[in-house]
Amino acid sequence: MSNLSAPYFHDEAAAFGFLEEALWPQGPVCPRCGGMDRITTVKGGRAGLRRCGPCKRQFTVTVGTVFESSHVKLNLWLQAVYLMCSSKKGISSHQLMRVLDVTYKTAWFMTHRIREAIASGTLPPMGGNAAIVEIDETFIGQKTDVPKQRGYAHKHAVLTLVERGGSARSFHVDGTKASDLLPIIKANVHPDTYIMTDEAGQYASLAKHFMGHEFTRHGQGEYVSKERPDVHSNTVEGFYSVFKRGMKGVYQHCSEKHLHRYVAEFDFRYSNRVKLGVDDKARTLMALRGIVGKRLTYRHSQRAEM
Ligand SMILES: [Zn+2]
Repeated sequence: MSNLSAPYFHDEAAAFGFLEEALWPQGPVCPRCGGMDRITTVKGGRAGLRRCGPCKRQFTVTVGTVFESSHVKLNLWLQAVYLMCSSKKGISSHQLMRVLDVTYKTAWFMTHRIREAIASGTLPPMGGNAAIVEIDETFIGQKTDVPKQRGYAHKHAVLTLVERGGSARSFHVDGTKASDLLPIIKANVHPDTYIMTDEAGQYASLAKHFMGHEFTRHGQGEYVSKERPDVHSNTVEGFYSVFKRGMKGVYQHCSEKHLHRYVAEFDFRYSNRVKLGVDDKARTLMALRGIVGKRLTYRHSQRAEM
């Protein structure tokens, strides 16, 4: 028995049962009238089909979710969500294609839908109560319109904020000037927070906006100082080591247009990691709860091809 032996990964009816438990903890809810009374199972209907007595609408738990209108069986969707949530560095569409035995297009469509589900949307500021938030930036990939050169001008810049003992938030940014970074940092970090960075000049004004700002002097070989053991950015560097290995090894063909989605995927796994008490199954359930209200915005013609 492995974790992938669970019936909801193999049987469509069991998959519907599993998703219903996750999304309807109080019982089925009609998507048309919001009612919960006199909802019956449609005898002989397709897996998971229900009928609302008062408004007569037939529906399944996938209505209004990223799984709606997909020809892929729900148990395969659950496998895909589980694999993406439990693979520390992510899973490529090619890998998913081979594991699920679906076409590349279908696998690509699935991985993007799942990323949509786990994108967090607008969140309250992180930090506060004198918590510590580490901030750093990294460069990945290759811009299509800038030739390869020394330095980072031809790469995509990513800014990451990590609360020590907490979550991560990353942003695909135009550049790493103070004017690129400060508005994002101020909008996403509570003022009652200590900030840790390296000595980069773009962070020089942070002390004015937060409780304090400390930085290591990498230029002088300082990563953690004996006198100031709290002052380091090892947490955000740890996040980047997984992120960069994943982007290089798994998602090497990520285009600029989709970069923010990949970044959100790494944030999601980090922010819901085992150290914070979230195991693979719990993380999968969190992702599934994110599918609601994120129905596909892709054009129908495109969807019909999948
Ligand atoms: Zn109804």
